[in-house]
Amino acid sequence: MKKTTSTYELLKKYDRPGPRYTSYPTAPEFRHDFTRADYIAALARAGQDVSLPLSLYVHIPFCERRCHFCGCTTVITNSRESVSRYLTTLDTELASISKHLGSRRSLMQLHWGGGTPTHLTIEEIERLFHQITDRFTILPDAEVAIEVDPRVTTAEHIEKLREIGFNRLSMGIQDFTPVVQAAIGRWQTLQQSEALYHTSRAYGFRCINMDLIYGLPKQTVADFAHTIDEVARMRPDRVALYSYAYLPAQRSNQRLINATWLPSLEDKFRLFATAVDKFVAAGYIQIGMDHFALPDDELAISLSQQRLHRNFMGYTTKPAADMIGIGMSAIGDLAACYAQNISKIGSYHTAIATDGLATYRGYRLSHDDLIRRRLITFFMCNFVMPFDLLKREFVIDYHQYFAREDSQLDQFVADGLLERRPEALAITPVGRIFIRNVAMVFDAYLNRADRPQQQTFSRTI
Ligand code: SF4
Repeated sequence: MKKTTSTYELLKKYDRPGPRYTSYPTAPEFRHDFTRADYIAALARAGQDVSLPLSLYVHIPFCERRCHFCGCTTVITNSRESVSRYLTTLDTELASISKHLGSRRSLMQLHWGGGTPTHLTIEEIERLFHQITDRFTILPDAEVAIEVDPRVTTAEHIEKLREIGFNRLSMGIQDFTPVVQAAIGRWQTLQQSEALYHTSRAYGFRCINMDLIYGLPKQTVADFAHTIDEVARMRPDRVALYSYAYLPAQRSNQRLINATWLPSLEDKFRLFATAVDKFVAAGYIQIGMDHFALPDDELAISLSQQRLHRNFMGYTTKPAADMIGIGMSAIGDLAACYAQNISKIGSYHTAIATDGLATYRGYRLSHDDLIRRRLITFFMCNFVMPFDLLKREFVIDYHQYFAREDSQLDQFVADGLLERRPEALAITPVGRIFIRNVAMVFDAYLNRADRPQQQTFSRTI
């Protein structure tokens, strides 16, 4: 992607707060009148599809220290007692969920995220894994994934993870540049990351992802290009390239980052464009708006067959099964409902001890929500929206149902970001970075007068 004046004008025109659409409706729409009883009813409905596998997300919030840039729900501690108590509470939650699900117990996807899941010791990892397999059966071809922090993950961790059944790793990298690491309060050398990568390969991990972030404080194109070269040289199967979400009003730790250190809008775009150019030149396929995969990786194959899916855990090749979330702040997506747990650890422990579940808020999707979710998700995965998909799955005519929204797409067509084809809408290559803006046209909730958009979402670029 080459920088041109018109590209900069497009950036200025379309850069605004907007959702990332890991869910639709988005989390700010979740309601507090979605109760524990609603969640139990959703679990019972999900439990009726006995033959369908599930996805399970486990939130492990612990970290040794808080990075300045972090936007995750974390608990900073080195107390093994706190970890042990949390594992006990997770076990109670698992027991409660299993009871309401009945005999639907097979897993196609298991994902441990955080926080830092490898903050757990080997014994704690084994304990939690067995708590899960005591109640659920992991299918032979399931994705069993964990997020690992190269600063705390040992060879013994990797050996144990592989031994008990994990087959995918996601490594947090962000940026190797020392001045950027100082600005974000996270010090992690290339050697640490590379050593963990090679250890993981040696123990048989065939699917390794690396996370990078563009738009971080003090990031320059030249330095970030060096980070990308190092990552491409290591050859992970997948790379996630996230836009930095600077939300100091909501994340107090981010106030340690001086806003003047952040790259300008134009520089942020250059960082993104440099990464895209370099990964594509290195043989990676761009997946969705911000991921890359080697051509023989399942994600790239699924993209070519328009079989890519997206959920709270990111892009996936597995069909959109019902997803259960356990742990503080975890979100489940099941039986046309979202259900989110309490985000404070003390309240989470209390709720689980009292009620077995810790539902804090949620959402029951209407038929219209389901149609819009399918459209937005498919578009964001595949950059194309075939009209017959909606006809097949919802028996609706796109042009009738979305006549008002479609008229708002003219500006994207005029700017060369979108093509109207007889059979589909299609994002152009230059339009990819603006896919969130196009998706926002189909979001029925965004233009409500009472929505505080400036504080709710990160910027689209
Ligand atoms: S960025 Fe990762 S390691 Fe740092 S505080 Fe957040 S979750 Fe923990």
